[in-house]
Amino acid sequence: MAKAIGDTAGPGEDRPWSNSLGRGRVPGPRLPQQRVFDDVVGPSTQSVHSGTYIDPVTGAVGTPIFTSSTFEFNEHTYGAFDQGHIRDVPIYGRYGSPNQWVVQEKVAALENAESAVVFASGMAAITTTLLALTNRGGHIVTSRDVYGGSYNLLREDMYQLGRDVTFADATSMDAIVAAVRPQTQVLFFETLTNPLLKALPLAELGEYAERNHLLLVVDNTFLTPYCLRPLELGAHVVIHSATKYLGGHSDVTAGLAVGSRKYMDRLWKQMLKFGGSIDAFPCFLLERGLKTLALRMRAHVANADALAAFLAGHPKVRTVHHPSLPDYGYPAIREICRDGFGGMVSFEVAGGDEAALKLLERLTIPQVATSLGGVESLVSLPFNTSHSFLTEAQRRDIGIEPGLVRLSAGVEDTADLIADIDQALNGI
Ligand SMILES: *Cc1c(COP(=O)(O)O)cnc(C)c1O
Repeated sequence: MAKAIGDTAGPGEDRPWSNSLGRGRVPGPRLPQQRVFDDVVGPSTQSVHSGTYIDPVTGAVGTPIFTSSTFEFNEHTYGAFDQGHIRDVPIYGRYGSPNQWVVQEKVAALENAESAVVFASGMAAITTTLLALTNRGGHIVTSRDVYGGSYNLLREDMYQLGRDVTFADATSMDAIVAAVRPQTQVLFFETLTNPLLKALPLAELGEYAERNHLLLVVDNTFLTPYCLRPLELGAHVVIHSATKYLGGHSDVTAGLAVGSRKYMDRLWKQMLKFGGSIDAFPCFLLERGLKTLALRMRAHVANADALAAFLAGHPKVRTVHHPSLPDYGYPAIREICRDGFGGMVSFEVAGGDEAALKLLERLTIPQVATSLGGVESLVSLPFNTSHSFLTEAQRRDIGIEPGLVRLSAGVEDTADLIADIDQALNGI
């Protein structure tokens, strides 16, 4: 049985850490009514139980939705103001609320971290994190392969804000090291890139960041803590667009940053100023989605693995990009992933973009839409969506060949997805 840890003092009881110099590192924030499990339980148990608020009045087994934007002051509130730990008591919606804390505790448990901050979107998490962890004159090393929103922020806004940015090949340790300068403060990368699913040399990068006193920020949206926990490999902050797998049902926009209490306190202070805080209702949806994270990820992984193998053997398919395949270019990722590589697969159909458009028209199960990580399979073409701002030559330069299809495998029956994609491919 898991042992409950953390702050279990009830209202009016002493919080022993409140007088301790180490209090800034105490995990949380959380309420005494929240369920807390340490890392001896597995990801399914964490998904279901970690963080849940058990209502002491009704005994409700699920977290109530606290829509209140402000909370009555009591001696704890005044104590918190006095002692400077206002992140730990409910005061005001933007500062923290029970529904935010429930989600934060669950994701922190899943990433095996002390703390987390939930945001109104993945981009709010990214802007807040990068600006909190750098300052004027600082330098960031990242890659052109990062999510479009992140790329635009790094390319268009960071310089205005006094941060220099260098874009390096995220798959090459040598290229990353060559980009580092004395002013470098943050390395920012994604665990698997979009749409070609190139992997980061994460274990080496974690050691390098440690040796060189650099902060490593990793966007783990594509893999989730079910597949990979970057903090255990030396990352300092993990980012999620919870709009994707963590929410899992394409019905909520949210983001998270996860890490030690020290870094999360820093990000939280920045979030208070930038204002990317999230309301109770999307937190409720996110908590509900997270309860089945492990269950869903098992199905996403099984479908993506099966589809990658099927596509690799199909005569109408030229290339398949997936970490499970023998010819995948970055096999080191297999040694660090706990169970599979998420649900994304990308592949090139013979006949180029025209053939790819025909494929999309013929599919009956996957829906043609952007985004990923929901229970429904989604399919899109980089050439007319995420990478439409590039010319065909520029796309080829970064490995996006004509006919490339990006598929987010949902949790439908594997045989149905294969049959549907097979008929669609055979008809083009
Ligand atoms: C979607 C996405 C984001 C942005 O998240 P939003 O919730 O849409 O703001 C950031 N990183 C990755 C890898 C994404 O897929």
